Amino acid sequence: QDPLEQRLERSRASLGELFSLIGRASKVDEELIEEIETTLLTADLGVAATTRIIDRLREGIAQGLIGGPEAVLPAVQAELYDLIEPCEEFLAIDPERKPFVILMVGVNGVGKTTTIGKLARRYLDEGKSVMLAAGDTFRAAAVEQLKAWGERHGVPVVAQGSGADTAAVIYDALHSAKSRGVDILIADTAGRLHTQGHLMQELAKVRRVMQKIDPEAPHETMLVVDAGTGQNALAQARQFNEAVPLTGITVTKLDGTARGGVLFAIAEELRIPIRFIGVGESAADLRPFDAGTFVHALLP
Ligand code: GDP
Repeated sequence: QDPLEQRLERSRASLGELFSLIGRASKVDEELIEEIETTLLTADLGVAATTRIIDRLREGIAQGLIGGPEAVLPAVQAELYDLIEPCEEFLAIDPERKPFVILMVGVNGVGKTTTIGKLARRYLDEGKSVMLAAGDTFRAAAVEQLKAWGERHGVPVVAQGSGADTAAVIYDALHSAKSRGVDILIADTAGRLHTQGHLMQELAKVRRVMQKIDPEAPHETMLVVDAGTGQNALAQARQFNEAVPLTGITVTKLDGTARGGVLFAIAEELRIPIRFIGVGESAADLRPFDAGTFVHALLP
């Protein structure tokens, strides 16, 4: 595996601006604070996370904890870590829940289908049995993509014709997974965002039919967002979280974007566990989120 900092090169360069401006500063003054603020906003941390960090820096300065410029960078690092550390919570598969149901939600193009394949690969490698539900019935390509993946990896995929009802597909899949004693069911859902009302109804229906079979399902409702969309990823997280209670987030495509700072924006606003980050195309590139490693990769 490449070290994470290599994959996060562009986001790292974006935050790396802090080094030069702090390096140039001869004292900690309002001008420096404002430059730091601009850098954090440019790195896609968003207003809320940036404000929190800047407020805490000002407090540190007022209390005399940050004397000179050399103390600023460690303070920013500490604040970034404090902000995102509460979102480090690995997705534990409870073996008592059989199948453990992971409901995947997110808009088209964010990497949802690919992430399902990578997750399935991870669990197969751990010796668990996996089944997939092709619930993104709106897009024939998504169903085909999952089926092809399933065939290549010997994983059963429950699907119906295109245009079928997502909830019906997932109900069938859960029924079948339960009778076969499958460990983990990963269910895909439609990735279109008509209107907020429509999304809510559809996801509520999926949950309702699942709960006829297992009152506690889904055991994980995971949103997938694309880091490259920056503040849009935050907006999607907000919108989905209103439609269905999210229990986890996966942020994809952190390789090749300078907008990795959006994880802090999501953490600050939503406080939802960030389960995985996607940093490339292969299965090994879906990595469990580790706050310390992440912050260090962005700001060494
Ligand atoms: P979906 O529409 O959300 O199901 O998106 P797909 O799973 O089809 O993925 C869209 C594209 O994003 C594909 O070309 C994937 O290979 C690519 N992709 C997904 N995750 C990552 C990632 O972490 N890094 C990179 N570089 N590409 C990714």
